[in-house]
Amino acid sequence: MRAHDDYAFASDNTAGMCPEALDAFCAANEGLAASYGDDSWTAAASDAFRDLFETDCDVYFVCTGTAANSLALASLCASYHSVIAHELAHIETDECGAPEFFSNGSKLLMGAGEGGKLHPNSVRSLVTRRTDIHSPKPKALSLSQATEAGTVYRPDELRALGALAREFELKIHMDGARFANAVAALEVSPAELTWKAGVDVLCFSGTKNGLGMGEAVIFFDRALSEEFAYRCKQAGQLVSKMRFLSAPWQGLLTNGVWLENARHANKLATQLRNSLAAIEGVRFAQPTEANGVFVCLPEAVILGLRERGWKFYTFIGQGFARFMCSWKTREEDVDRFVADVRALSR
Ligand SMILES: *Cc1c(COP(=O)(O)O)cnc(C)c1O
Repeated sequence: MRAHDDYAFASDNTAGMCPEALDAFCAANEGLAASYGDDSWTAAASDAFRDLFETDCDVYFVCTGTAANSLALASLCASYHSVIAHELAHIETDECGAPEFFSNGSKLLMGAGEGGKLHPNSVRSLVTRRTDIHSPKPKALSLSQATEAGTVYRPDELRALGALAREFELKIHMDGARFANAVAALEVSPAELTWKAGVDVLCFSGTKNGLGMGEAVIFFDRALSEEFAYRCKQAGQLVSKMRFLSAPWQGLLTNGVWLENARHANKLATQLRNSLAAIEGVRFAQPTEANGVFVCLPEAVILGLRERGWKFYTFIGQGFARFMCSWKTREEDVDRFVADVRALSR
């Protein structure tokens, strides 16, 4: 095993930059350019998003998903509002309170549903549970697409949640850390999965799709992005050499590289799942709909895999492990990993 190969399934952010993003990054290094986003690279990447989503949306580039989610939610909510999200949502479990911090106190209300997907009944009960002045007013619905459990919201599920949001005057934020994987899995247009289903703001991750870093915050309801530039600046997210954050996106958005990267990751995850399914003692904790495989392995197998050097996360419960694929995952990685699971399962 080469030194870094044991990270093949630890996360989709263990991979580097894809060649197209790297080429665009290097191309942006030629000559001088205006700073703070007033450059042609940033304008072109923003236009590429408007083409992709088939609408006149507002686009901002920030460094991390945590910043994207937190600042987007802060633009939807006042300090006395609340955000409804699934209990497994990254904004709740992995952002160190940043959404609450940047919104000056908006409370997260945790909902439930199978496979990491918020169930409409859970949303309804959270919104209607309290309507008095003593409890924060529900203002936003946050949906992760694909979810933290490796599943995807289908268009009809999104439309149902969209209708509910309209009924209760909730704005919809989408955490699209794996938005590309969801589009690849569902084979529907990006527009269908966002503004056509009622999504007001999408945080589209480039990092997990093949950039070195960077997320796009895309406002479909342009009224909500008023003064968003100030939020970015105050949060230290207005990058002065913006072209290095925005230009690599053009590498992804030209010729559908973003979708190919996601398709590759999803395909490898399906291969991994199918190969593991043939091994006795392997059960799955979640369906594999995007680029993650959630497996219940005997404790001895988990320990054995770690001893052999494999890096991966175990969470949700004892014996559950998560294996993520990326644009860079190779079939030989899958084969080597499955061979190890098979050997340890004998
Ligand atoms: C990775 C990820 C993010 C972004 O995380 P950062 O480390 O802040 O870039 C957001 N949401 C989900 C669901 C993620 O998996």
